[in-house]
Amino acid sequence: MRVPMSSPDLSDLERQAVMQVLHTPTLSMGEQIEAFEAAFCRYLGAKHAIGVNSGTAALHLCLLAAGIGPDDWVLTTPFSFVASTNVILYVNALPIFVDVEPTTGNIDLTQAAQAIQDLIEGGTAARRWLPRRGVGRRKGQLKAILGIDVFGQPADWDTLRALAAPYGLKLIEDSCEALGAEYKGRKVGLLGDYGTFGFYPNKQITTGEGGMIVTNDDEGASLMRALRNQGRAPGDTWLQHTYLGYNYRLDELSAALGLAQMQRLEELLRRREQVAAWYNQRLQNIPGVEIPYIASQTTRMSWFVYVIRLAPGIDRAGVASRLAERGIPVRPYFLPIHLQPYMQTRFGYRQGDFPVTEDLGERGLALPFSGVMSEDQVDYVCDALRQVL
Ligand SMILES: *Cc1c(COP(=O)(O)O)cnc(C)c1O
Repeated sequence: MRVPMSSPDLSDLERQAVMQVLHTPTLSMGEQIEAFEAAFCRYLGAKHAIGVNSGTAALHLCLLAAGIGPDDWVLTTPFSFVASTNVILYVNALPIFVDVEPTTGNIDLTQAAQAIQDLIEGGTAARRWLPRRGVGRRKGQLKAILGIDVFGQPADWDTLRALAAPYGLKLIEDSCEALGAEYKGRKVGLLGDYGTFGFYPNKQITTGEGGMIVTNDDEGASLMRALRNQGRAPGDTWLQHTYLGYNYRLDELSAALGLAQMQRLEELLRRREQVAAWYNQRLQNIPGVEIPYIASQTTRMSWFVYVIRLAPGIDRAGVASRLAERGIPVRPYFLPIHLQPYMQTRFGYRQGDFPVTEDLGERGLALPFSGVMSEDQVDYVCDALRQVL
């Protein structure tokens, strides 16, 4: 048997929706994107939803709307997909890392609290949180927290908000892995000031490539709408550009696909929940395997990937290659951002700087996962894993 790492969950509804767009002359900036955005506003109770062509573009625009620029510091974590740190560099701001909780992989709140206090104080207190090099000589100022809802589990946003409030820090929520997740009964996306979703084919819903920004901030929303469309402000003609903008537009074919997926969202989330439950049942008693941890404030996990942790000392690469021989792809998840070559070169990060992130990075193994996986496929993967271990 060969099991794919992930697969989109598509039906005739999606195929027809895309085909219908091809019978119209409008392939960009038409009614599909408006309807897709409206579906997000309804689903989340958001004032504004802005469709863009990737989750990365969504994050980039949120930083611009939050007014983050050169000399600003943004607190975030290195246990994430690189985009959440890269966008901070795109606006010439400085990402400042704190480590994550060993259970969830989300931001460590004790460290975040200490870092915020020290960074606001400045001087030597601040220095211990800054990278070894690449900081520049000018004084920086902490402006925002960029938190990630890792693997579809919300970070502790009430606590983050309480930490941010005394200093007026902006909160940016990277929910690109967490559409549909709930924190204390509230859906992710609006737990900070600006939230983002991504629709790459392995996400809960897909548009091929695509992303969505959600916010209740009127001014920020209108700026982000202009920036995604080459800087055209309301009232600008096609060749007038009030701002330096980008082409971050989501085309109509992708938006139609996304709209159809949103109509099936509850079904898509349930199927993923079912697959995760199959995995949990079969893996909870295998020695050496730790199944995903769900925090008490997570009232709904939105399964993005299914990542187990192997006990210390198990040869993960060996396990992966023996699973590959059986037609089962697996992936280490995540490779820490601070240890990516360009981050080491620029900031002087080394092994040992963020021990929890590194430990999770060394022991985490994403198994094949999608809403279209069958129980037989889950059995096959779990049996193989048991044998290999
Ligand atoms: C998928 C993802 C993104 C967005 O990725 P794109 O490929 O640009 O859509 C951003 N952050 C995290 C944590 C992600 O997993």
